[in-house]
Amino acid sequence: MALIIEKFSFGVGDRFAHQGKAQLAAIAKAAEQGVEIVPVWNKSNREHQTIGSEIASCRVAADAAVEALGWEKSHYVDADHINLKIVDPFLNNSDFYTIDVADAIGAPAEESEVSAFIDTVPELIGSLSIPGIPEPLEMTRESIAATANQYLKAVKLAGEIYRYIASQNGEGTFVTEVSMDETDSPQTPPELLVILAAIAQEGIPIQTIAPKFTGRFNKGVDYVGDVVQFEKEFEDDLAIIAFAVKKYGLPENLKLSVHSGSDKFSIYGPIRRALAKTGAGLHIKTAGTTWLEELIGLAEAGGAGLEIAKEVYAKAFADSDSLCAPYATVIDIDPAKLPSPEDVNAWTANQYVNALRHDPNHAEFNSSFRQLLHVGYKIAAKMGDRYLNLLTECEESISRNVTENLYERHLKPLFLD
Ligand SMILES: [Zn+2]
Repeated sequence: MALIIEKFSFGVGDRFAHQGKAQLAAIAKAAEQGVEIVPVWNKSNREHQTIGSEIASCRVAADAAVEALGWEKSHYVDADHINLKIVDPFLNNSDFYTIDVADAIGAPAEESEVSAFIDTVPELIGSLSIPGIPEPLEMTRESIAATANQYLKAVKLAGEIYRYIASQNGEGTFVTEVSMDETDSPQTPPELLVILAAIAQEGIPIQTIAPKFTGRFNKGVDYVGDVVQFEKEFEDDLAIIAFAVKKYGLPENLKLSVHSGSDKFSIYGPIRRALAKTGAGLHIKTAGTTWLEELIGLAEAGGAGLEIAKEVYAKAFADSDSLCAPYATVIDIDPAKLPSPEDVNAWTANQYVNALRHDPNHAEFNSSFRQLLHVGYKIAAKMGDRYLNLLTECEESISRNVTENLYERHLKPLFLD
């Protein structure tokens, strides 16, 4: 029997693979409230490289957390944003694959390929009513050709990567996600429909899809964009997925995957409402937020913990250009709002925590400070055992913050309120 992911899944993980238990504790708390959510640990190749960690370490940390908490439901390990070049080391220890084909978006397809594709989807041409979308979609041969030109190559590549993983791990032994989020422009609902038709033809048993939504999904901070438009687009996407599942025989549990999903407080209400209305499932990736809770827990502990949290900031401040460069499109730091390291060194534990903790209504919250630290994990990685030993010493305050952040600020507004 094929591996089928549950309706609600929650992407967790952390830079230094120390917070598995604290993350799982948040999901277990939601289970006590009657909401079944399964954890998916993920760590991208980029993170592994920045930190110098072994790819297998993610599986080890996930299994250890599951064992320690006696978690009896499923858990998964996600090879996040892989492609053919980097997938091999993930093959033995992952059962969820996020196939990233964003780089192939826009690679023009052969004209013959495009017209052959359009001939297979005549139902899309003209006025198409989709249950759940108030107004019919209007597509023409030309508009479908434009979408096919943009996405057909990317879908074919996703098929190639899927078949490679299946040839190595065996069909039905893993969950397949296709991600198109790390690209310039969002996919509209009609584009998503064309993409799903192409994915079905390619024979990819896709269970989650990560489109790019409108608005900015900056790292570690709230959504920036038109929330009303987001809500409409999200609902339309759910309707498109339900339609495509029936029409093209895609897996029945196919659901949306929201990347950079942590801390997007202003869209959690709209997402929860849309899920309740439609009965749809959700996957949401939130791994990025936990490293900041680690810093908060260190600072809260005071003493050496607070000292190292300040040192991480001072070094991140000095090195901000190179730390920010790989994340340029997903952060929005106002340099004028960054406190000087001298100022931060004079802060109390409370001041540090208040500036960093994601409470946008707190007078001392500083989103530039938070975003710089978000991309500053490389500094902590370079500190090696000195940093890791403090994680153990300050475990109480760190794990308390990690669990509370995921439960109170993420799981509750998304699934429980
Ligand atoms: Zn992503």
